[in-house]
Amino acid sequence: MKVYNTLSKSKEEFVPVEEGKVKMYVCGPTVYNYIHIGNARPMIVFDTVRRYFEYKGYDVNYVSNFTDVDDKIIKKAIEEGTTADVISKRYIEECKKDMAGMNVKPATKHPLATEEIGGMIEMIQKLINDGYAYEKNGTVYFRTRQFKDYGKLSHKNLDDLQSGGRSLLVTGEDEKEDPLDFVLWKPKKEGEPAWVSPWCDGRPGWHIECSVMSKKYLGEQIDIHAGGEDLVFPHHENEIAQSEAANGKEFSKYWMHNAFLNIDNHKMSKSLGNFRTVREISEQYDLQVLRFFMLSAHYRSPLNFSADLMEASKNGLDRIVTAVANLKHLLGATTVETLKEEEKALLEKTNEFVAGFEAAMDDDFNTADAVSSVFELVKHANTTANGESSKEYLQGLLDVILKLTDVLGLIVEKEEELLAEDIEKLIEERQAARKAKNFQRADEIRNELLEKGIILEDTREGVKWKKA
Ligand code: AMP
Ligand code: ZN
Repeated sequence: MKVYNTLSKSKEEFVPVEEGKVKMYVCGPTVYNYIHIGNARPMIVFDTVRRYFEYKGYDVNYVSNFTDVDDKIIKKAIEEGTTADVISKRYIEECKKDMAGMNVKPATKHPLATEEIGGMIEMIQKLINDGYAYEKNGTVYFRTRQFKDYGKLSHKNLDDLQSGGRSLLVTGEDEKEDPLDFVLWKPKKEGEPAWVSPWCDGRPGWHIECSVMSKKYLGEQIDIHAGGEDLVFPHHENEIAQSEAANGKEFSKYWMHNAFLNIDNHKMSKSLGNFRTVREISEQYDLQVLRFFMLSAHYRSPLNFSADLMEASKNGLDRIVTAVANLKHLLGATTVETLKEEEKALLEKTNEFVAGFEAAMDDDFNTADAVSSVFELVKHANTTANGESSKEYLQGLLDVILKLTDVLGLIVEKEEELLAEDIEKLIEERQAARKAKNFQRADEIRNELLEKGIILEDTREGVKWKKA
């Protein structure tokens, strides 16, 4: 299995730190608003990476944080006349709803920065003790030049950074020893959330949060650290400096970064007015369409969001959903049980599509090609399954399609809706059961309907039903 590693700028064979296990950390969103469709890209992409590792038999420990202390959260809290805590809790809940809609599995652990401050203070203290950090008037800085490998991820050279960073000196950070140094801890300002520390009441810098949460939940050395490509520098470069200086070990073996999502070929931004939240998209489309759209491109290619492409994705997904519904319909109708002689080779042929799917995913998670293999499989099913097919053949086709779409996290089975006539039939049966004093059966029917979202009401005019 090959994974593109930003560290080496090349595809490398995946070899886990510990056999059979994958420890991965994905930088999560800053929670001050509904997540936008750009934030949805890493969520969907790395959830798919996780699912593929699980499909391959790995035990995946997947950690993704919520950044719940940040200038933007504080600003929003002030605007609304409330606390940062209220804002972050609200948008974490909303984010989880969006994730569920996109069928992104909950992480093994979703740590919150505000609940891990103790660990951050500990790591900062260790960095100070070891000469990698220093305090000036309550602010603690990382001594960037002290970490010899600085720049190895973003492939930047310290002297180029030095000339680019000079402007920082005039923006009031002149107490730094070096313009390249970055903040680990900063003093509180009036009205901001703050924690007690050996240096001052204040809060951590953003980069230290991830170094600490990754270490706490995954250990000092992990397999994959991931996020959007904007995080390569400075966020991930700084995380490497902090973690490797503090732990004396390579932090993450592989660094994966998704390319950006643009809208109608423009960068998405509030000022351009082309900013879309996942919630807005959900009003127009099933979020499975958004997931399908994201997976229709390779994660390292820029992706352009447009109404046309969303329509095309809707049609693409529909093709799979329809094929699955058709197979289920045929399964319900056929009377032939066992695989027929001529079906053996046809079922065997599905292995070719599975092999194509796996080859695509093994090549740095090429979901675009993996989706093509699913389409070939669907075509094979559509052209070979019919009213004469055996149950075994239809079930075989269905199983393979569901196995592959599940790796992509696509929900392709339509919820079966009860038809009005079926409901009426069950109500009649319930009435008959009651008459025969078989109350157990009557209750069973009521509960069965309730599970499917149908509520029964016993009225004077008889039994009425409504949708929950
Ligand atoms: P943020 O809340 O800005 O820290 O972003 C959370 C995650 O979303 C990070 O991994 C970002 O790199 C990623 N991200 C933000 N905007 C986009 C975008 N337009 N396209 C793809 N990924 C993005
Ligand atoms: Zn991070």
